[in-house]
Amino acid sequence: MLCQMPTQVDIAIIGAGAAGLAAGIFAAQANPDLKIILLDGARTVGAKILVSGGGRCNVTHTRVTPQDFHAPKRLIERVLKRFDEHAAAQWFESLGVTLKTEPTGKLFPTTDSARTVLDALLKRCDQLGVTLLTEHRVRDIKPTPDGFDITHQSGRITAKRVVMATGGRSLPKTGSDGQGWAIVKRLGHTVTPTHPSLVPLVLADAFFHGSLSGISHEAALTTRVQGKVTDRRTGSLLWTHFGVSGPVAMDASRFWVIANAHGQDTSLELSFLPDQSFESADRWLSPTDNAAKQKTVAATLAQRLPARVVQAVCAHAQQGPTDLAATTLNHLPRDHRRALTRSLTELRLPVTRFRGWNYAEVTAGGVPLEEINVRTMASRKTPGLYLIGEILDCDARIGGFNFQWAWATGLIAGQSAARDKAD
Ligand SMILES: Cc1cc2nc3c(=O)[nH]c(=O)nc-3n(C[C@H](O)[C@H](O)[C@H](O)COP(=O)(O)OP(=O)(O)OC[C@H]3O[C@@H](n4cnc5c(N)ncnc54)[C@H](O)[C@@H]3O)c2cc1C
Repeated sequence: MLCQMPTQVDIAIIGAGAAGLAAGIFAAQANPDLKIILLDGARTVGAKILVSGGGRCNVTHTRVTPQDFHAPKRLIERVLKRFDEHAAAQWFESLGVTLKTEPTGKLFPTTDSARTVLDALLKRCDQLGVTLLTEHRVRDIKPTPDGFDITHQSGRITAKRVVMATGGRSLPKTGSDGQGWAIVKRLGHTVTPTHPSLVPLVLADAFFHGSLSGISHEAALTTRVQGKVTDRRTGSLLWTHFGVSGPVAMDASRFWVIANAHGQDTSLELSFLPDQSFESADRWLSPTDNAAKQKTVAATLAQRLPARVVQAVCAHAQQGPTDLAATTLNHLPRDHRRALTRSLTELRLPVTRFRGWNYAEVTAGGVPLEEINVRTMASRKTPGLYLIGEILDCDARIGGFNFQWAWATGLIAGQSAARDKAD
C-alpha cells in the first residue's frame, strides 16, 4: 500500500472503517484514473471490524428490510435497493471472502475470523491503488472554489470531493469519537442528539442477575415509556454479573436509553415465557390434571426454564416463609400463584443505567437522512460532500444490518463521487 503523501486528490475519504473502505473500493472501481485517498486518525485501521460479531464479523443478514433500521423507511428502502444483502454477499465472494449463514440468519466469513474481512477490504484498496494514510486525524474541512481544503494532524490536503465516513461514538478507543459531527456541523449540517444503541443494561445491585451470570434463554422484553408500550421484542437474553445483555436486551436498549435521556418515566419488563400471556401462564400453573397438580413449582417451571433461573424467580416471587419452589401446585394459594405468574411474565427489571459508550455497538442519532440525497449520499448542504455509515442518523438491530448500511452507503457514495468528479 502506498503511504507517500499526496497533497492534491480527486476524492478524500475521511475514516477508513467499514463504510470508508467500501467507498474507496467502489470509487476506484467506478473510475480507475482517480486519485483516491483514505485518511484515518487511528494507528491501525479496522479495529471495529476486528472486534465485530465477537471477532467473527457478522457482515450482513439473509434478509435485510427497512424495518430492521431506525430511520425513515422510504429512505432506507432506496439505499437497500441499490445494494441489498444479496449484492453484499456476492461482493464478499468477489473479494475472496466465502460466507456461511447461521440459523439466526446472520452471515459470517467461513473462517469465523473478522481478520479475513478486513484483510480482503484492505487488499482490494491496495490493488485498486487507493492510498491509505493512518495517523491522519482530520481536524477541519473547508470548501474552496475547487473543492475542499482538509486540515489533518500533520498538514493539509486538497480534494475535489470529500466523503465523510467518521462513524459514531461507540467504542471510542477504535478512533470513532464523534469528531466528524463537529466537522460536518461547520459544513452546514445538523446532528440529532446521539445515544448509545445495542448496549448492555446495568441492573440494581440488589437484584438477582448476579446469581444467573452466564445463563442465556429466550425472553421477551417490553419497554414502556410514560406507561405506553414503545417496544416489545423476543430473542436470546444473557444474564451477566452487571445486568442484562444478549441480542434481545441489546436491541431493546435504545428505547430505554433514549426515553431515559429525555427524563421520561421508563420501564423494562421481562417475560420468561415469551409465547404466553399472564392469563395463559396463570392457567398453566393451575392445572386441572391430577399428575400436573402434584408437581412442585420448581419441577413445573423446569420444563421451560434453566434450573438456576427457576430458583431465582421463585426466591424473587416468594411471599412469606413457605418455600415457593418446593410447593406443589395444588397447595399454591391463588395470590402466591399470581405473584409468581407476574414475575414470570411481567418482571420489572431495575435498570439503573446503560453500560457506557465503550460497550455500545452503535450510535443512535447523527446527521438526519433528510439532509442527504440518498440516491448519491451527497450532502444537501455542501456540494461535493458525501456522508456515509454511522455518522448518519440511522442505526439498526443486531444481526449484520449495521454493516449492510455501511457497505451500501459506501457503494452509493463511492460510485457517485467518482462519476461526479469536478474537472
Ligand atoms: C463491539 C462491536 C461489535 C459489532 N458487531 C457488528 C456485527 O457483527 N455486525 C454489524 O453489522 N455491525 C456490528 N457492529 C457495528 C459496526 O461495527 C458499525 O456499524 C460500523 O463499523 C460502522 O462503520 P463506519 O465505517 O460508519 O464507522 P467506523 O467503523 O466507526 O469507522 C470510522 C473510522 O473513522 C475514523 N475517524 C473518526 N474520526 C476521524 C477523524 N476526525 N479523522 C480521521 N479519521 C477519523 C476512525 O478512526 C474509524 O476508523 C459492531 C460494533 C461494535 C462496537
